Amino acid sequence: MKKMEKISTWLWPEVCPFCGKASSQGICIICRRRLESLKITGPRCMQCGKPVRHSEQEFCYDCMRVRHSYDRGLSMWLHQDPVNKSIYQFKYHNQRRYGIHYAKELVRAYGHTIRKWNPDLILPIPLHKKRRKKRGYNQAAIISRELGELLHIPVDEKSLVRRVYTDPQKTLGRQERKENLKHVFAVKKEFYPVRVVLLVDDIYTTGNTIDAVTEVLKKKGVEKVYFLTISIGQGY
Ligand SMILES: [Zn+2]
Ligand SMILES: [Zn+2]
Repeated sequence: MKKMEKISTWLWPEVCPFCGKASSQGICIICRRRLESLKITGPRCMQCGKPVRHSEQEFCYDCMRVRHSYDRGLSMWLHQDPVNKSIYQFKYHNQRRYGIHYAKELVRAYGHTIRKWNPDLILPIPLHKKRRKKRGYNQAAIISRELGELLHIPVDEKSLVRRVYTDPQKTLGRQERKENLKHVFAVKKEFYPVRVVLLVDDIYTTGNTIDAVTEVLKKKGVEKVYFLTISIGQGY
């Protein structure tokens, strides 16, 4: 594995995951500066971690209306340029190496909080096997592996399964989407429930996916479910 990595570095020199230009230190100085403004530094929602306008505001607009099943979560950046473009490359153009940089940034920003959460296990949000086969990899699993290595937390890529293949072309309403997700996820019989789980995905939008997985896990006896994602939408 290590050797393979060396060879690939030699064949494909390190590029900045945000602008695609050659950069020996990963994220280049220009992009790092741009990313600073997409970090959530001010007050944030106690539930999903989205930025909120005032520090006395406990929850964002979405979380005030929706009762989430998960306990809490954090995302690295707002889903805007260049983060959205970078994730697109990571997901659809085989830029798997970007996952290393995302994980490093997550640990640098939230390592302390993650240790406080004290997860027993990291679980990536699964893709349906048909989609994973087509793409060749699950982007959430790549970030999970990197996080697991950096934080010394075991990663389980097998126990969670997405049973239903959802057509990306099909546009559904909010409620319909939520209903649709109800039976999408399942946990394998062999899964031994741990106390705390950390779910990992690339983007947080409505939280419906995280909720659906959380419900399945909590039914199995998991007590706390947290999440980490690379990006998140604006909260207001
Ligand atoms: Zn750059
Ligand atoms: Zn929220």
